[in-house]
Amino acid sequence: MKLASEIVEHEDGHHHELDEPERRTDDFIHPEVDIPRIEKAVREILLAVGENPDREGLIKTPNRVARAYAELLCGLRADPRKHLKTVFHERYNEVVMLRDITFHSLCEHHLLPFTGVAHVAYLPDGRVVGLSKLARLVEGFARRPQLQERLTGQIADALMEELQPQGVAVVIKATHNCMTIRGICKPGSSMVTSALRGVFRENHSSRAEILSLIRGR
Ligand SMILES: [Zn+2]
Repeated sequence: MKLASEIVEHEDGHHHELDEPERRTDDFIHPEVDIPRIEKAVREILLAVGENPDREGLIKTPNRVARAYAELLCGLRADPRKHLKTVFHERYNEVVMLRDITFHSLCEHHLLPFTGVAHVAYLPDGRVVGLSKLARLVEGFARRPQLQERLTGQIADALMEELQPQGVAVVIKATHNCMTIRGICKPGSSMVTSALRGVFRENHSSRAEILSLIRGR
């Protein structure tokens, strides 16, 4: 395998190219999310811990929390693979990589955030997608109750199945609030997961090359 001499990389400042219109919270709240039901549940939580949900500062809190959850979990009613449906047929058979895709997700065990960066690379076999689609793919799968391991695998599998490339490599590094602010309370700790498919899984030297490329060395 020959690794790309022209690696397509993501750099700071390129965010504007991700054809992202101005982001409005309400765009991310699906009409089928039962906001009043979340509000009731949040009120219950406040009561259960000994708060008074009717005091001035908390009056609007259940609604705010409900809308926040609806936004953070909006990927549940979306199919992130739709972003991979527009492919370009290209004879470009070198590695394509988008690094440092920031994301935030909610761990499904505690519903606390885990945040970090994803690096997504694939070796095409005649089909490529726009770079911004890789970021959208990550975001679509992240905005659900998640496990970092599953998130990593879902991104890799979607790319493998939709683009049928020669290989896919996904590495995610994230900090989990459920570990940093509660439980064993280890601020600064991070978790790294990787999912390798195709040649990156099967071929030892391809694997070593892609991983060092992802590390940026
Ligand atoms: Zn957790």
